[in-house]
Amino acid sequence: MSDAATSERRRARLARVPAVERVMSMHAVQRLTEVYGRTQVIDAVRVSLDALRGELLAERNADVAASGGADGEALESAASYEAHVVARASSVLEQRARSHFRPVFNLTGTVLHTNLGRALLPDEAVRAVVDVLTRPANLEFDLTTGARGDRDDLIDDLICELTGAEAATVVNNNAAAVLLTLSALASKKEVVVSRGELVEIGGAFRIPDIMARAGARLREIGTTNRTHAKDYEEAINPRTALLMKVHCSNYAISGFTKSVEIDELAQIAHRHTLPVAFDLGSGTLVDLAQWGLPAEPTVRGTIDAGADLVTFSGDKLLGGPQAGLIVGREALIRKIKKHPLKRALRVGKLTLAALEPVLQLYRAPEFLAQRLTTLRLLTRPASDMHAAAGRVQPSLQHALGERYAVSVEPMFSQIGSGALPVDQLPSYGLAVRVTTARRGGRALVQLEKALRDLPRPVLGRIADDALRLDLRCLEVADETSFIAQWAELRL
Ligand SMILES: *Cc1c(COP(=O)(O)O)cnc(C)c1O
Repeated sequence: MSDAATSERRRARLARVPAVERVMSMHAVQRLTEVYGRTQVIDAVRVSLDALRGELLAERNADVAASGGADGEALESAASYEAHVVARASSVLEQRARSHFRPVFNLTGTVLHTNLGRALLPDEAVRAVVDVLTRPANLEFDLTTGARGDRDDLIDDLICELTGAEAATVVNNNAAAVLLTLSALASKKEVVVSRGELVEIGGAFRIPDIMARAGARLREIGTTNRTHAKDYEEAINPRTALLMKVHCSNYAISGFTKSVEIDELAQIAHRHTLPVAFDLGSGTLVDLAQWGLPAEPTVRGTIDAGADLVTFSGDKLLGGPQAGLIVGREALIRKIKKHPLKRALRVGKLTLAALEPVLQLYRAPEFLAQRLTTLRLLTRPASDMHAAAGRVQPSLQHALGERYAVSVEPMFSQIGSGALPVDQLPSYGLAVRVTTARRGGRALVQLEKALRDLPRPVLGRIADDALRLDLRCLEVADETSFIAQWAELRL
């Protein structure tokens, strides 16, 4: 075709592109308006018209031609352009309305996965959140006196009851708890910390950085692997505000090691009339060993051992919403609550509403392993996951075809969120391997991506030439929808 003919044809096509008003008056578009409102629909129609014009100018109107058949010219009627624009606008609107925040299947084997939102809330907590969010509530209103209240009052008695502490306060997360504690108690003063405990948690939280932000001077003592009581003793001077201990959360030092336990550290601090704070990180309220889980220091045990302040997360082993709990001596908590940063770091009503029912579950430890979602997942016996693997394996094998082999295999889950990094929980899951020897690595990566593209993405992990799907966190009630998704798998 000559250049002149091409450009004539292009002009003719562009002339058939409908006007915005024409599209807006179409019946199908009116229906879209009822759902999305006129403002959004006009915008989506304009976007779709622009895209169509752009394609026509570029002479590649594949969509329009393909939707009509082989004979391009006849199909490119004004009507087919209109239908094309409506379909496109509708899909633009649908995409825009879709949430970016989506539930996934966490089959990574890490129960408290920081990138996947850590603890899952029990139903009681979810109901309480809905209740308080859809109606006014006594967030800062004392119903007994009719006077203004303090949001901490809603929950501090319960926290004290469960931890044995004199007083408590709650902030946005544990990083905030540590920052606030140091700001309130050690600004322009020294804080003594062992070099073996200067941890970094998840990149953005480093004890030395938090210390600097709080305006406190870090007094490092000991060595990476060994710190002794006399190291603390020697570091104490008139500028010392606090001795601090930090849970090593995400790493373990083994071999020739020595650290000073909290009870001994408390004795040293108290001899010098100094407080000692312990950042427990995960901080469990109950002895996990009773369910066969690895032992972690409990908050109560730490308070009993003499810690004056303990900070810990709400959404790690505690199993609640994101929050940072600070418990300890009344005078210290009072000082912390008076600091201006407290106002900036305070929790919202969502958090308080969710936290209270979770804490209440701890009053009935007999039922905790059934009712607290996190603990239920952590204590699931391997035989449970083995049975689940048997139920879901055939459907996945069927969906994947001969290129992949799906087998039921034992694996190990992790608690996650820095709790007990070296301990692993026996579990079962599916291991998917590529049957053709060549390019197995690529096929696994493809599969991993295809699982991520599902309506509710399935997240596993690739290790030892297999994609591993640990079934610990696939609850029985979710199995049907899990399997149903294979129909949408695009490999
Ligand atoms: C996890 C952790 C933190 C940070 O807690 P967030 O609730 O994530 O802010 C701080 N210190 C220790 C020891 C931790 O394990």
